[in-house]
Amino acid sequence: MRSRIFVKLMLVFLVVIAVTAVTLQWTVRNVWQHTLHEQIERDLRQKVVMFAYRVENDHQHSLADITSQEGQAAGARATVIDPTGRVLADSEADPSTMENHARRKEFVAALSGSIGLDERDSHTVGIPFIYVAAPISGGAVRLAYPLPEIEITDRPLGEALLRGSLIAFGIALLLAAVTSQYLGRRLKRIVSFAERVAAGDLTARIASTSIDEVGQVAAALDRTARRVEENFVRVQTSQNELETLLNSMQDAVIAVGADGRVQWANRRMNRLLLRSPRLNAPLIDSVRDPDFLAAIQKAANDNVVTSARSSTIASGRTIDVTAAPMPGGGAVAVLRDLTETERMEKTRRDFIANVSHELRTPLTSIQGYTETLLDGSITDNHVRDFLEIIRKNAARMSRLTEDLLTLARVESGEQRFDIQRVSTDELLHDALESFREVARSYGMELQVDNAAPDAHVDADREAIHQIFSNLIENALKYAASGKEIVLGARLASGGTATSASTTGTASSPSGTIANGVEFYVRDFGPGISSEHVPRLFERFYRVDKARSRESGGTGLGLAIAKHIIIAHGGMIRAESELNHGSTFLFSLPASHAESA
Ligand code: ADP
Repeated sequence: MRSRIFVKLMLVFLVVIAVTAVTLQWTVRNVWQHTLHEQIERDLRQKVVMFAYRVENDHQHSLADITSQEGQAAGARATVIDPTGRVLADSEADPSTMENHARRKEFVAALSGSIGLDERDSHTVGIPFIYVAAPISGGAVRLAYPLPEIEITDRPLGEALLRGSLIAFGIALLLAAVTSQYLGRRLKRIVSFAERVAAGDLTARIASTSIDEVGQVAAALDRTARRVEENFVRVQTSQNELETLLNSMQDAVIAVGADGRVQWANRRMNRLLLRSPRLNAPLIDSVRDPDFLAAIQKAANDNVVTSARSSTIASGRTIDVTAAPMPGGGAVAVLRDLTETERMEKTRRDFIANVSHELRTPLTSIQGYTETLLDGSITDNHVRDFLEIIRKNAARMSRLTEDLLTLARVESGEQRFDIQRVSTDELLHDALESFREVARSYGMELQVDNAAPDAHVDADREAIHQIFSNLIENALKYAASGKEIVLGARLASGGTATSASTTGTASSPSGTIANGVEFYVRDFGPGISSEHVPRLFERFYRVDKARSRESGGTGLGLAIAKHIIIAHGGMIRAESELNHGSTFLFSLPASHAESA
């Protein structure tokens, strides 16, 4: 690099020096020649006047001698002519051989009485001369000076200028070498800095102390490198923190790029899979589960959080997958091992089912004996009251065990549903027929408002009847003041949920399923205050415990309804406001089967 800079600097210096030398030489020579010319002219004028004076006054020497002496003294050719122009004497030629000079410009002026001057090529020698003539009585004298003499005189000047230029060029050469070496060294530091940064070494610095332009560039590059290094350290620290966090997680995490290749996986993920995912390898190389792959693809392509359940990612284990889109494309999936939770859930459900089952027989027996005693001959009112209390509580416990058993069966999936195509009208009228009279006994009227009379759903008729039964019984128990209960159906406008597990218990307007039918039971009773609404579907959750118990409630009706709906792939929710009645809504998938 240094030699390249050196050559460039040299060329620039060379051009500058050459141009300067030529210009200088030309200008100086011009000025010099002009001055010399003027000097000679002035000199000749004086000398020709003195020559004229001597010709007129020196009577001791012959005209030829005077002419020769004056010519020598002036360093010029001297000539004397008579008024007719005939040459009388000449310092360099024989006058008799010379032609008449009367018409020469300088002589014309001199013969008319003034100093004559001319510059032209000599007829005799053929080189340019400067001629100066002066009048004398009886003719004129002239001195002629050859102009090439001027060039001869200024040759040393040209040589001096050339020498000067050569010296200047030598100095320039030296300066170019020093400057190029200095500049080259500084630029080389910038280049090696750039190479180190390009190779990933962000600690590289130029550390220039100079404040010229190169120094400023170096300082700016140093500042940039420092900032990049700081940012890099910050990013690396947060990446390390994130990595540590993700590696310490119980859940497996995997990030997949938009091209379907694995970008990152935490330790748990590597342990979960039989074949650890290789970075930058296609995800399908390590995971083949179609539900998992579909969830990742849906999240990445449709930009939505997607859930899936898999039992083939790791053999013998149930994995819950939640895939979320990444901002730059691709998706990140969190895999939660539900095996243990499900096992504990099952143990809990089995325990409840077993306890309920074991309680069934003694409870039936208590109920039977109490009723026998009450039907018998006991007349003591106190004893009858006690027996009545025992009968009531035994009945309550019996209902509770039945509800617990039902819930356990539905929750565990043991309960098999007979899913068939059934019209909304049939479902609503089944409920209406079963409860019209019961409602009247409570002083209430049942109404049907079917906005989707032609719609059909896929559902187990008995199970849906059970849900209507729970909801209507609740309305009768808690909203008798409303005097009216409306059973209805309408087409669901579509929801955002992607799986039944997102079934909501809150009064969210999006708690319906796409392309489904939404049924509802509306009452005009006291309503439920908003803080209770989201929890209504939890088991044993009751707004007013005493009232529920008194009316024979178990606190399980809505929980059972919720699990039946989940098993149908639907959703259930409640809308209520204090003093404005309550509406319980559940949606079911519309039937796509051909009508029989
Ligand atoms: P319960 O056996 O207590 O009726 P549910 O699960 O059926 O249990 O209902 C849970 C609670 O929700 C009830 O205890 C009651 O407080 C409230 N609830 C249910 N339906 C209504 C309604 N239509 N109006 C007011 N409150 C209701």
